[in-house]
Amino acid sequence: MKIFNSLTGKKETFKPKIKREVSIYICGLTPYDDVHIGHARTFINFDVIVKFLRFVGFKVKYVRNITDVDDKIINRAKEEGIPALDFSKKFIKEMHDDFFSLGIDSPDVEPKVSDHIEEIISMIQSLEEKGYAYRKNESDVYFDIQKFKDYGKLANRTLDQLSAAERTIKDLNKKHEADFVLWKMDTDGITWPSPWGEGRPGWHIECSAMSIKYLGEEFDIHGGGLDLKFPHHENEIAQAECATERNFASLWMHTGPLRIEDKKMSKSLKNFITVKDILKDFHPEVLRLFFLLTHYRSPISYSKEGLENAKRVLDKFYTLFSDIKTPRKFNEDKTFREEFISAFQDDFNSPKALSLLQAYAANTESGGDLSSDKLFTLKVLLNSLGLLLDEAENYFKYGELELSDREIEKLISDRNDARGNKKFDLADEIRDQLLKKGIVLEDLDGKTIWKKKS
Ligand SMILES: [Zn+2]
Repeated sequence: MKIFNSLTGKKETFKPKIKREVSIYICGLTPYDDVHIGHARTFINFDVIVKFLRFVGFKVKYVRNITDVDDKIINRAKEEGIPALDFSKKFIKEMHDDFFSLGIDSPDVEPKVSDHIEEIISMIQSLEEKGYAYRKNESDVYFDIQKFKDYGKLANRTLDQLSAAERTIKDLNKKHEADFVLWKMDTDGITWPSPWGEGRPGWHIECSAMSIKYLGEEFDIHGGGLDLKFPHHENEIAQAECATERNFASLWMHTGPLRIEDKKMSKSLKNFITVKDILKDFHPEVLRLFFLLTHYRSPISYSKEGLENAKRVLDKFYTLFSDIKTPRKFNEDKTFREEFISAFQDDFNSPKALSLLQAYAANTESGGDLSSDKLFTLKVLLNSLGLLLDEAENYFKYGELELSDREIEKLISDRNDARGNKKFDLADEIRDQLLKKGIVLEDLDGKTIWKKKS
C-alpha cells in the first residue's frame, strides 16, 4: 500500500509500526454550528480510508477528537446565555446524528478536550521543564518555536518566512511572532485551575495530548483537512516531539479543500451548505459517491450538477440489484477483487477504483453475464467503500416521503424543548412546519403523538 505523506511530500510504501495494525488520529470538529459539506468531505474521506484499511485486513485503532473548548463555542454560548459545555453538547448530538445519516462509522475513541485537562496540563509542564514553554509578565504560556529546530518541517517554511508572514501582529509578551499559546489565562467562559493560574488550553495542545494518550508517543497516521496543516499540525508536531523527544506521527494525510461552484464557502456569501440541506434532496450515498469521484487530496468544487452526476452513477449500480436478494453463498471473483484493491491502495485512488467498478458493472450488463458471482463481487467491493448498503427499493424511494419517522420525532423533541424554554413562537413554527408536510400533532397528557393528515 502506498500513501502520500504530507511530511515528506512523497508517496511512500506504508509500513505500520505493528504489522497489520494501524493507529490513526484525525482532528475532529469544533461543535458550535451545523455540520457543513466541507466537514462531510473530510470525514467521509477518512471514513472510507478506515473502512478500506479494515477491509484489507488491518486492525485499526481510530481516534477522532471533539474540540469542545474553543472561543467560538464560548462566545456563542454567551449569546444564548447557557454554559459553554451545554452549548457544545447540543452540537455534538447534531454532529453524531449527521454522521450517522452519512454512514460515517464512529471512531474507536472520541476524546473531548474538557475531559483531558489533566493530560494537557502535564504536557505543558513537561514542555516548561524542558525549556520549550515560557511566559512573560504573568502572560499566557507560549511555546518557543525557536527552540525546536524542526519547526516548519510539515509546512515547509523557515522561521524567517514565518516572521515575515506574522509581522503585522505584535505581541510584546512573545519572543517570536509565531510562538503560540499553550495555556490561555482567563477567568471567563470555561476555565480550569492550573499551575499558571485560572485559564484554558490553547487550541493545538489538545491533539498532541489526546493522540499520545490513546495511540502512544509514536503512531502511524495523523490527518485532517488541509486547512489544519499550518499552523495546527505544525504546532502539534512541535509540542509532541519536544515533550516526548521522539518522532510523533510517521505519516501525515490531508484532505483537499472544498469550494462551492468555485467560490469559497461562507455564511456571508450565502452559499453555506449543511449536510442536512443536502440530505433533504439526496440519498447520503450520493454525497459519498460524489466525494469519491475526486481523489481525496484534490480540490473539489461542489455543485448540484456534480451531485446529479454522482446520482446517475449510483442509480446504475442500484438498478443492477433491484429485484435480487443477496444469495447466501457465492464465489467471489478474486481476480477482480485484487485489481480493485491494487487500484485503491495506491494512495486511496477512489476515482480509479470507481471507474474499474463501473466498467465491471457495464460488462456484466452487456455481456449478458449476470452471474450472481460477479454481481455480488461488485456489491462486496462497493460495500467496502460504504456504498450500496441500502436496499434498492429504499434507495429509489428516498426523498418521496419528505420526513422520516426519526426526523419527525426529532422535530417533536425540538418543539417540546422550545415549549420547555418558553419559546412558544419557535414551538408553533415547528408545528406549522410539520403540518405543511402532512403531519398532525396532538398533545395528550403531557405527551405528543403524531399522525399523517388524512
Ligand atoms: Zn487537531
